Amino acid sequence: MYIVSACLAGLCCRYDGKDNADENVKELVRQGRAIPVCPEQLGGLSTPRPPCEIVENRVMTENGVDFSESFLRGAEEALKLAKLAGAEKAILKARSPSCGIGKIYDGTFSRKLIDGDGLFAALLRKEGIKIKTE
Ligand code: SF4
Repeated sequence: MYIVSACLAGLCCRYDGKDNADENVKELVRQGRAIPVCPEQLGGLSTPRPPCEIVENRVMTENGVDFSESFLRGAEEALKLAKLAGAEKAILKARSPSCGIGKIYDGTFSRKLIDGDGLFAALLRKEGIKIKTE
């Protein structure tokens, strides 16, 4: 079983109210082999919502509003679902402050990438769930 970023499954849960539909991910869900989850919505954040980046271990908007608690709560809730579903692998949306793997935006809101994981990806990695981007 896979846990997958809900936006990759075609759900409009992105910060801007759009999706990142990926046909391969949608097919896994159709086959009952993947469960979609959006950690940011599970953390209580609205859709649409202001875009956030990780700035010195906090998750902030460009104007400095700190949403770290919601991002953390969402990552933990999404991990619960991954465990409940018995997921051993995850396919997550690249570059997101929640779902990004290996590369995330650098916190300057200038589209520059640095090494790092989003909060949910980091939690899955720590729990031994194999993670990859779409
Ligand atoms: Fe997609 Fe993850 Fe962002 Fe939700 S938190 S919109 S699942 S990338």
